[in-house]
Amino acid sequence: MSSSTTTSSTEPASGHPGPSTDRRGILFIISAPSGTGKTTLCKQLATNLHGLWHSISYTTRKPRPGEEHGRDYYFIGEQTFQEMIARNEFVEWAYVYGHRYGTPWKSLSEKIDQGSDVLLEIDVQGAMQVKKRFEDSVSIFILPPSMTVLRARLATRASDTAEEIQRRLHKVKEEVWHYREYAYIVRNEDLGRSLRDLESIFWSERLKTKRLNMTWLEHNFILDDEQKTGDHKDLP
Ligand code: ADP
Ligand code: 5GP
Repeated sequence: MSSSTTTSSTEPASGHPGPSTDRRGILFIISAPSGTGKTTLCKQLATNLHGLWHSISYTTRKPRPGEEHGRDYYFIGEQTFQEMIARNEFVEWAYVYGHRYGTPWKSLSEKIDQGSDVLLEIDVQGAMQVKKRFEDSVSIFILPPSMTVLRARLATRASDTAEEIQRRLHKVKEEVWHYREYAYIVRNEDLGRSLRDLESIFWSERLKTKRLNMTWLEHNFILDDEQKTGDHKDLP
């Protein structure tokens, strides 16, 4: 598939900037240090925003209590993961905190082609790979208010061992260093406020001039009646 996610001017038009079958979807990338709250926020966003699809990654990590295969991740073995790499089935993949994680091509490209916006919740290494492949993607970095709060959130989540939590905390400085590579920064202090900030970013991106469906604009404001083809006559 093409690496561009911009609106195609050759597709039929509705002119509406929101989720639409008339334009290609926008690829949103969200990264954050572990424990910041990105999964909580991404799940809520995908529920609140019509036309936004939360991609499901593959991982070799074991499920945490309450996690479900096919809902939170596809939990697979090392060998299956290697076979998927060999078949070129990942948009990107990375080794994170001792496990492999990868974003599958198939569902992502299908969704974007159908006009759905796609949300990728991936680490910094993966985000850099996706940004190179999809120059028009929108990257967002979420930060906790402080290291003290981050530590407390990882402890409250109570899903990782003390050793695993330490491993994740050790990576924070290195991860935060990449903040400049992201188009937006959201500080997740109050959950409701962060959700509103993220929703504002999503709506602003959907409304960008470069994503406007040009066929709709031409049809309604530029072309004379006789220049409009039969196919376009009934469009709004
Ligand atoms: P991540 O996906 O970034 O690793 P999670 O979404 O699992 O983080 O959140 C880690 C913990 O912090 C969870 O227990 C979650 O309920 C909590 N949490 C997330 N955001 C906030 C917030 N704004 N205020 C307080 N607790 C939060
Ligand atoms: P967790 O084990 O806490 O679910 O995730 C650990 C880290 O892996 C997080 O930073 C998360 O964003 C990242 N991650 C999840 N899925 C993917 C993926 O498909 N690709 C990459 N590169 N990172 C991922």
